[in-house]
Parts: sequence; C-alpha cells; structure tokens
Amino acid sequence: MFFNNTDKRYNQFSAYLKNKFGAKVYKITLDAGFSCPNRDGTISTGGCIFCDGSGSFSQAHSNLLSIEEQVKTGAETLSKRFKAEKFMAYFQAYTNTYKPVNELEKIYKASLTHPDIVGLSIGTRPDCVDDEKLKLISDISKDYYTWIEYGLQSIHDKTLKKINRGETFDTFLRAYEKTKSYGINTCAHVILGLWETHDEMMQTAQKLAELEIDGVKIHMLCALENTKLAKMYKNKEVDFMSEDEYIQTVCDFLEYLPPKTTIHRLAGNGLKKELIAPRWIGKKLDCLNKIDKELLRRNSHQGYKYKP
Ligand code: SF4
Repeated sequence: MFFNNTDKRYNQFSAYLKNKFGAKVYKITLDAGFSCPNRDGTISTGGCIFCDGSGSFSQAHSNLLSIEEQVKTGAETLSKRFKAEKFMAYFQAYTNTYKPVNELEKIYKASLTHPDIVGLSIGTRPDCVDDEKLKLISDISKDYYTWIEYGLQSIHDKTLKKINRGETFDTFLRAYEKTKSYGINTCAHVILGLWETHDEMMQTAQKLAELEIDGVKIHMLCALENTKLAKMYKNKEVDFMSEDEYIQTVCDFLEYLPPKTTIHRLAGNGLKKELIAPRWIGKKLDCLNKIDKELLRRNSHQGYKYKP
C-alpha cells in the first residue's frame, strides 16, 4: 500500500478526497462568464499561446445557464452516470477571481446552495487576487473544503515570456504567500514540455517542494485548434515531447514533490476534437497506466527524492 490506502505511488487527489469524505467526490465544472486580463486587452489581447479562447482546458457546462442550474445539471448527470453523491463546485473557465468582490461573493455562494456540494475550487491567475478576495474565499473555507488553483506553468520567467503569460514567477510567489496567510489550500498548475531543459523542469518541482505546496496539477503542453501554438506547430517552429519523454519527466517531477502534496492531474482530459498535437495526449488512461508502471519499475514514488 502506498498513498491513501491504494497502490498508487503518488498522492492522487481523487483518492485523497475519497478518504477525507468517505465517498468519491466529483468536480462540477462551472462557467460564470468570467474573462481574463490576458485576453481582454488589460495585459494583452492574445492570451497565453496555448489558450484556445474558451479559457483553456475548460469543460464548463454552459454560461447560458445560471450557476445554480449548472450545479444542478452537473450533479444530476454525474449521479446518473457514476452514482455520485458528493461534489465540489469548480470554477475552471478563464480567470475566476476577475470581477469585483461583491459579484464574486454572489457567484461563489450560488454554487454552494446544492445540498451535496462539499467544496469549492477556484482556478485563477496569481495577478488577479487581493486581500478582499482572499478574505472572502477564506471565509467560505470555514464551511466548505476550498482550494485556489493558480496557473503557474513554470518558475522560469523566460518561459513565461515565451508563452505570453503576462506575469512573472514573482507574481505567483507573492500571491502564494498571501493565499497561505489566509489558510487557503493552494494548487499550482504546471506545464511540461515548454522547451525547457530537464534541469529547468526539475527546478520547478524543487521550488514547489520548497514551498510545500498543497497541490499540483501537471499538464503536457498541447496545441488546440485556433491557438497561436497551433500556428507555431504548423509552421514547424515548435515540437512536443513524446509520450515516453513525458512519462519519464513526470515521474522525475513526482519524485521531488513532498508526499503530502496532492496530485490533481497528471494527464490530459481525453481526446478532444480540437486537439492537433501531440495526438498521444488523447489517450489519458494509457498515459496514467504507463506512469504507474514506470514508478513501479523504478521502485520509486512521489517524494522519493524529496528533502524537507
Ligand atoms: S490566463 Fe488562462 S484564460 Fe487567460 S489567456 Fe492564459 S490560459 Fe487563457
């Protein structure tokens, strides 16, 4: 047995939640019609080079429905399909703290009215939080299991510039420290394959370990239709990691992370029709199985190289 009474060699968030709540907890992705300062002209109009204009990596139900209706529909669908009983409201699309605090309060609270909601997760940019917003989220966290997920991607500013992130690692650090001072669980999103050396990617893992981050979500860089990255790929300006390289890199990355850090994602979301490259990313289960096998082959696990 390894983490959460399972044979997983990493601290898988879904298993962690199952232990904590005594039942599998499903995320309901919500779209409250947020925008993003990196798309609306405040910072830039182009956005991150991998962002496809739907807030990137989002699978929200529909921002035409009210938040309450989105939660109700999501809960009904997941209950029918998986007999799900408990849920977290997940604000995923775009930058979900990018409105005045009084509006945020209404939006977040609307997502918590369903009786089977046990938690809240808010995806955002580190440059879009302040004391007022964090205080609101911290107050909610007294009654609901609450997370903020920050798009970090890399600790290297040269990489952040290359992907047109519109912020620096220092912005993340300041937001992270402030968020922790309010006692809120914090997850960092990281992208592997951003044309960094292996050492540079491991430096991101080591820095997150040093920060004792609560959670990490790891993505493989991929090009979706209608993105700047897709154009760069078609023009042969960039290439992507092979599946084998990704698996080796993810396992190395996990070895540096503290055992207590929960792993919210390690592979893509399945094959999307907008996916251009790399195509292997569409086989999510295959990829997760290969990561398990590689950790077993190494006789290794998350935290294997972690030094407190
Ligand atoms: S911060 Fe998110 S929503 Fe904004 S441009 Fe980047 S990926 Fe898209």
